[in-house]
Amino acid sequence: MKLNAYTYAFPFKEPFQTSSETFTERRGLVLELKDGEIEALGEAAPLHGFSAETLDEVVQQLKTFSSEIIELFQKALSLDAMQVFHRKNNIYPSLQFALDTLVVDFLSQRAGTTAQDFLFDDYSDKLQVNGIAPISKGEKTLKRIEELIDKGYSTVKIKIGQAFENELEELRRIRSLYPDLKLRLDANRAWDLEEAVSNLSKLESLDIEYCEEPLAKATVENYKKLQKKTRLPLALDESLVKIRDWESIMPVISAVIVKPMVLGALSKLFATNRLANNHGNKVIYTTSLESGIGRTMTVILAAGLGNRDSAHGLSTGSLLTMDVWNDGTYINNGSVSLPDRSELGERYHSNHKYLEPGQIDL
Ligand SMILES: [Mg+2]
Repeated sequence: MKLNAYTYAFPFKEPFQTSSETFTERRGLVLELKDGEIEALGEAAPLHGFSAETLDEVVQQLKTFSSEIIELFQKALSLDAMQVFHRKNNIYPSLQFALDTLVVDFLSQRAGTTAQDFLFDDYSDKLQVNGIAPISKGEKTLKRIEELIDKGYSTVKIKIGQAFENELEELRRIRSLYPDLKLRLDANRAWDLEEAVSNLSKLESLDIEYCEEPLAKATVENYKKLQKKTRLPLALDESLVKIRDWESIMPVISAVIVKPMVLGALSKLFATNRLANNHGNKVIYTTSLESGIGRTMTVILAAGLGNRDSAHGLSTGSLLTMDVWNDGTYINNGSVSLPDRSELGERYHSNHKYLEPGQIDL
């Protein structure tokens, strides 16, 4: 049995902008465990602005624990044993996700089944995916939305929170041109309570599926006050890792956005699902601009745990110029079909050259 690890830096097709920084590439770590015929994969790619840990810290932690990890795989390996390992050693969330992916891939291959059948009794074979469009770029926004509709997308996500009056005007135009399109918004904590109340009330007539993270100060009190003053459904995303009592906000929101790369261990994802179900909240799964390995695991988790009637944010692979495999094989017509693991394995081999320069000594 051998554990290999590679760091990668895959360039984005276009520089990726957050509110404070511009990124030209996505960096991450791929784990590869070989045992006879079995070749299991996992990925850790901390997401800037969401994850608390850095890639360098993840690499250091992996080096510290690599022999214990191999021992775990050689002994009575189970997902439960890995959850104990995470807790005991304070493993970073992105590395938890990589290790759990590795366990699921390893055990399902050993059992001769797929990861989805290994994890779930029941799952959807096909899920809708949301497209992403820029805002306040005039014709560019409309062109992008038309392209997405032509490609079969029926849900589009739009980031707002920069210049609200322009955004409102643009959204009204989009809604009047595309009355059946499902629109979801993400304000990424742009507004104080007063602004959020005023802006969301102006958006109420536009039939918005939900708005993620409207509040700069995501407190239980603020969300309670906001929910009393707007009919627009609210969703939490980054607050799941940024504030301690996010669970107390669940009763007043409608959806929770789950990024497995950021949250980490599968035990946490299952617990988040139970909580969301108890409050009747939609669970929307989202990838984190990582490589095809993390995205594939996220698709499988979305199929088993995500809301079945909603689109999920799973199509970020198209933003990378280089990858371990290409989404085009399983994202079509605005939907994602559960990938056939063996086919992905082949694609992985043909693109392995992209990883090799980053091999780490464990
Ligand atoms: Mg978001």
